[in-house]
Amino acid sequence: MDFIYFDHNATTPIEPFVLEAMMPFLQGQYGNASSRHDLGIHARQAIEQAREQVASLVHVRPAQVIFTSGGTEANNLLIKGAAEWLKPSQVVISAIEHPCVVKPAQFLARRGWQVRQLAVSELGVVDTEDLEQALSTPTGIVSVMMANNETGCLQPVGVIAQKARAAKALMHSDAVQALGKIEIDFEALQLHAMTISAHKIYGPKGAGALIVDRRIELFPLLSGGGHENGLRSGTENVPAIVGFGVAAELAASRLANLKPRLSELRDKFESALVAMGAIRFGSAVDRLCNTSYFAFDGVDGETLVIELDKLGFGLASGAACSSAYTEPSATLLAMGVAPEIARGAVRFSLGVHSTKEHINVFLTALKSVVNRLKSLAAMTA
Ligand code: PLP
Repeated sequence: MDFIYFDHNATTPIEPFVLEAMMPFLQGQYGNASSRHDLGIHARQAIEQAREQVASLVHVRPAQVIFTSGGTEANNLLIKGAAEWLKPSQVVISAIEHPCVVKPAQFLARRGWQVRQLAVSELGVVDTEDLEQALSTPTGIVSVMMANNETGCLQPVGVIAQKARAAKALMHSDAVQALGKIEIDFEALQLHAMTISAHKIYGPKGAGALIVDRRIELFPLLSGGGHENGLRSGTENVPAIVGFGVAAELAASRLANLKPRLSELRDKFESALVAMGAIRFGSAVDRLCNTSYFAFDGVDGETLVIELDKLGFGLASGAACSSAYTEPSATLLAMGVAPEIARGAVRFSLGVHSTKEHINVFLTALKSVVNRLKSLAAMTA
């Protein structure tokens, strides 16, 4: 059998339909969207159509979509760009944010800001009482993700936004993992800004957006020709933006069926996991329908992922690799998981093309690898 991919939270394959829509803009339709001639006008129209498609997926007006090179840039633009207009105060993030939120917050710390990380319950959910405590200190920016990339746990972003607004703070949410998996209504959540990315919804890598309430003030990371309403200069990546638009439309059309189908597959998979003695993380709360996060006591997560790769399965370990040293997942540590258990974490994430057969084949392989690694560990103990 071909390689079986269970790492859709890392990235998704481009849908052929999306690629088809992009191709003309990589070949004949190569115009610069700022040019006044026919090719340029065509590129501009394609970008504006994509803006409408992306806006529609998250229920905003097209003018609220600022295209960027991806989620990382959108998170940086919001945190650094908003701070530029504010007096240094406190930036509140959760203890389970993606590094592209954590690092910009740490960047602000070098400019006189206080960084406050919100506690997370052992179930994997941000503690709103801790938020209340945090907000008793003057706060400029609050950034809490909509769904965690490792556990899939959904965060109470609407409640957090209400409290942040009451405290006169700007409220941002990184919705990169939630997009296309749950219904997102930017206005209903009362957000000031939200980050999304194309490559998690079967679109191309290198395209994303910051969705904004037009009343907030941002300073651009990149200055120049004034593209994207002055917030993101640089000639637009037309093919990637077109692909993002089509992927957004596709995601909207799939939304209703995705949850029942993938949660059924995921739940069957987890029943088998539990029967094998796995420990699950974040499984007791509302979470993304495609994500499963688990460990086997005494089995190293990295090793398990490498062994499964040799057999043709793509998964992710929970560890963050920085050069030669692997650290246990910060998300799991924040949830109070012991480091030796956290080192065993493996993330399994389904996609729209995952099937029951894929899972059955995988479970057989997983059982044999886990048994082998466990007996090896017992021999060396
Ligand atoms: N935020 C979250 C929660 C993510 O999972 C990711 C990617 O893994 C990003 C941000 C970064 O997005 P991009 O890869 O588009 O820069």
